[in-house]
Amino acid sequence: MDFNEQLVRYADVIIQCGLNLRAGQRLWIRVDVNLPEAPPESLRLVYTLIERAYAHGAANVHVQWRDQSSLLAQLLHAPALEHFPTWEIDGAMSYINQGDAYLSIRATNPDLLTAVPPERMRDYQVKIVGISRPVNEAISGSAINWLVVGMPVTGWARRVFPHLSDSDALAALWQAIFAVCRVNEPDPVAAWQTHVHGLMRRSAYLTAKQYSALHYRAPGTDLRIGLPGGHIWQGGSAQAQNGITFVPNLPTEEIFTLPHRLKVEGTVRASMPLITTDVIEGLQLTFKDGAVVEAHADRNQALVDNMLGMDEGARRLGEVALVANSSPIGQFGLFYDTLYDENAANHLALGRAYRLSLEGGQSLDEEAFKAEGGNTSLIHVDFMIGSDQMDVDGILFDGTTEPVMRGGEWAF
Ligand code: ZN
Ligand code: ZN
Repeated sequence: MDFNEQLVRYADVIIQCGLNLRAGQRLWIRVDVNLPEAPPESLRLVYTLIERAYAHGAANVHVQWRDQSSLLAQLLHAPALEHFPTWEIDGAMSYINQGDAYLSIRATNPDLLTAVPPERMRDYQVKIVGISRPVNEAISGSAINWLVVGMPVTGWARRVFPHLSDSDALAALWQAIFAVCRVNEPDPVAAWQTHVHGLMRRSAYLTAKQYSALHYRAPGTDLRIGLPGGHIWQGGSAQAQNGITFVPNLPTEEIFTLPHRLKVEGTVRASMPLITTDVIEGLQLTFKDGAVVEAHADRNQALVDNMLGMDEGARRLGEVALVANSSPIGQFGLFYDTLYDENAANHLALGRAYRLSLEGGQSLDEEAFKAEGGNTSLIHVDFMIGSDQMDVDGILFDGTTEPVMRGGEWAF
């Protein structure tokens, strides 16, 4: 199969399986891209998506380009980080408020922003998450059908394949993305439907169990996470408030639910590096009454401290997710991008929880959601904890323990 055919198939999987775009919907595409490192064949994805969206009946497609090198220049050289226009957010909200679809394409160089001093980076993050709040909340509340996907640029490809030339690394990263997105299957759309079905079956099983807690054991990890009553395991597809069923991440291998913001006890060690503005290695967190009371990293401790200091909810968990260690992404290795890497292993997220992981959560205001155990924060940062040495037990309300995972694989 040649690259162009793979690209069209990838675009169709994005539009049909991911967004499930409906005829008559408008589509807002946000592209976070380091433009100087984006080769024409990568950018062609965006134009293929526009064509395929119209072919599937889109009323209008708008592309919001966010160039990472322009951002770098601002972060390094602007006299003060005061002026962030809100009109791009207003534009996206004008689509979201009308029930239109939202696609986010990630094509950034994970190493580019490491030149920014941590204090300035923190300053920027506080401001940008504040401004972006309406869009972030609409998305975490699934107001509309939305999706996040990846697109290779040179700096990212070089990070994943450091031993290859730039052009070979780009080609290899494209092929890796096509493989984990099932683009090479005889019928990619049908392959996704089968896969999504499997994730939903496991979610339904665990939701019916209503475990009061999960207990994780692995080298460096002994952690108990309480789950609130009425928690819902989500996986594969989700139902948006505009009535459309969609798959929010491509690829996706995870099922996830709501941890209780006050009921996390013990210690957990990250099993893979955490990539934020730089690579955080050897992360270890200790929780008491749901909050991180001790945090250690072998590398980039300052980034961890910044992250935990963002707001009150940044020290608490907002997501608990299970992924079989044998998933195609887990077999590949590191993509150096959370979209992919979080589908490689069991993970947790610090910060904002998803309303749809609680029964009736979408209709609760912030205080009511918190009272049920849901966390709120400006951040949502996933970190990987799973490995082939991890066992997970489910604890029923009467204290009975059942195996959920053994050696990183499903035990039910
Ligand atoms: Zn997740
Ligand atoms: Zn997450």
